[in-house]
Amino acid sequence: MIPFNKPFIIGNELKYIEDAVKSGKISGDGIFTKKCQDFFQAKYSFPKVLLTTSCTDALEMAAILCDIKEGDEVIVPSYTFVSSANAFALRGAKIIFADSYSDNPNVDPESIEKLITPKTKAIVPVHYAGIACDMEKILNLAKMHNLFVIEDAAQAIDSYYTFSNGTKKALGSIGHFAAFSFHETKNIIAGEGGMLVINHPEYFERAEIIREKGTNRSAFFRGEVNKYGWVDIGSSFLPSEIIAAFLFAQLEHLDTIQEKRKQIWENYYYSLQDLDNNKLIKLPKIPNYATNNGHMFYIVCNSYEERSSLINHMKSKEIHPVFHYLSLNKSEYYLKNNDLFEMPNSDKFTDCLLRLPFYYELSAEEQYKIIDTIKEYAKN
Ligand SMILES: *Cc1c(COP(=O)(O)O)cnc(C)c1O
Repeated sequence: MIPFNKPFIIGNELKYIEDAVKSGKISGDGIFTKKCQDFFQAKYSFPKVLLTTSCTDALEMAAILCDIKEGDEVIVPSYTFVSSANAFALRGAKIIFADSYSDNPNVDPESIEKLITPKTKAIVPVHYAGIACDMEKILNLAKMHNLFVIEDAAQAIDSYYTFSNGTKKALGSIGHFAAFSFHETKNIIAGEGGMLVINHPEYFERAEIIREKGTNRSAFFRGEVNKYGWVDIGSSFLPSEIIAAFLFAQLEHLDTIQEKRKQIWENYYYSLQDLDNNKLIKLPKIPNYATNNGHMFYIVCNSYEERSSLINHMKSKEIHPVFHYLSLNKSEYYLKNNDLFEMPNSDKFTDCLLRLPFYYELSAEEQYKIIDTIKEYAKN
């Protein structure tokens, strides 16, 4: 059976966990947490990084930092993971769903623009498959209406956006805040894990406080205050050193991981290109302003029925492809308080997008088995 995903170990993961245990400190914010945060700040020019226990937690921290409250509206793509919306719903915001482009699951800035009202407080672009949203357009809308931009960069490690003046910036460094994931299905893994990127210094201190249960404990450990206490709302968003140790071992091999993943992606892409030329499926499109970080390989089938029968065919050959999001505007929770409406592009990706098995240890042989199975199916 070729699974959809397989977690992997690439270097010193187990040794570093042992080192952390032997060091006598495995709660949060020890040596490995600092090493990971420093790594990201240096490599991607992120002004400040805080490791969290998940991307979901990082999004919840961002919602608190934006002071989202009841009555606020937050614009989120309909085609995304629940956490992109849930983090803001938890603070009482009304979630307003925007649609994808017709040929790219990312949110269409024109769809966002139509939804902005005086109550809008934030926009949450999600870089689907690690491919950048059109951030220049989104930033312009945000500036014009004084809105926060929170990048859901869960899938977007090591990917970039190029502005029209030629400036190239890492995804996660563009909005006010960004949330990344190290869940076992992402490029760089720690089991469960995430990080919040804070791009404006005025939020650094409050972010530390929110992450430490609403206390100024981080400042206390740095010797900046002589006692610590309850100063704000917050929760326990910091991961243990065991998670950070695992993560740091992966980071030491980030370039190798990325190179391998991009190779897998390109092999899928070039091997399946004639099916796209013959309009049997559609392959992902990477806009000129975006880079590919080899996070995911998806195809778009012509219909729900074609996707279902392709899934069945692949499963009969012991290959496990997986479809992805169900439009959030049609979710059970949203429909409890809102009317049903159509979101044509998001609905199309809900019905027709299919993700192929993709993991670091996927062998060339396994990849050709997957490619041949799809081609053989398409012929019939
Ligand atoms: C994986 C993912 C998340 C959630 O990440 P966790 O670390 O599991 O909380 C959120 N948004 C998107 C777009 C994701 O792909």
